[in-house]
Amino acid sequence: MIDINNISKWYGPFQVLTDCTAHVARGDVMVICGPSGSGKSTLIKTVNGLEPFQQGEILVDGTSVGAPGTNLPQLRSRIGMVFQNFELFPHLSVRDNLTLAQIRVLGRTREEANERGLKYLDRVGLLAQQDKFPAQLSGGQQQRVAIARALAMDPIAMLFDEPTSALDPEMINEVLDVMVGLAGEGMTMLVVTHEMGFARKVANRVLFMDGGRIVEDSPKDAFFAAPRSERAREFLARII
Ligand code: ADP
Ligand code: MG
Repeated sequence: MIDINNISKWYGPFQVLTDCTAHVARGDVMVICGPSGSGKSTLIKTVNGLEPFQQGEILVDGTSVGAPGTNLPQLRSRIGMVFQNFELFPHLSVRDNLTLAQIRVLGRTREEANERGLKYLDRVGLLAQQDKFPAQLSGGQQQRVAIARALAMDPIAMLFDEPTSALDPEMINEVLDVMVGLAGEGMTMLVVTHEMGFARKVANRVLFMDGGRIVEDSPKDAFFAAPRSERAREFLARII
């Protein structure tokens, strides 16, 4: 469903991604890990066109992300993205956060958007919070709203960029539980995370990045049993 073919990207003279290739099938849960600055965020942002790239090609469900004729807003509306810092609209209620893009981008009526938004809000256990504003919620609750907001767009895949790293420890599991549930339902997911417990439980593949390259792309069990690269071994030893 997502074909990343030989992507290279530069920021000015600095090469941030070098010849990255990865293939994600429908229903795959791919965990991406690696040291800070290794290019993880940049790589997943190329998938929904948030970051342009100079070489290579990315196909999402057959649509080329970098091609001049591609309707990026439409493509993005089909790929949910969840960030470290939630990125909710602070001036909108939870309910309006859930409905805005459905109405503006998908052209749904307010009634349809409400129905769909509240269905997913219920699913993340926050139906009672619909009239609150983001600042009135805990970090874990805000992140669950962000996930519900993405799901309400009926995405074909979900991208997560360190969704729990801004959370207090006691809130991490409430967010991971939602993600585990999604994986169990067959959602295609690319997840940048250092939560190796999550990776062990639900990933089918682990991709390890270092210095802008994909150093290792292994089935989960193989990765945890014996990472092929020395750099991945050192990384695991430090974080587990
Ligand atoms: P990671 O998510 O693995 O921590 P990033 O993808 O955020 O890594 O960043 C990879 C590298 O690209 C880092 O060295 C970072 O400093 C650099 N970088 C990220 N964004 C920019 C930018 N807008 N301009 C220049 N360099 C950037
Ligand atoms: Mg990052």
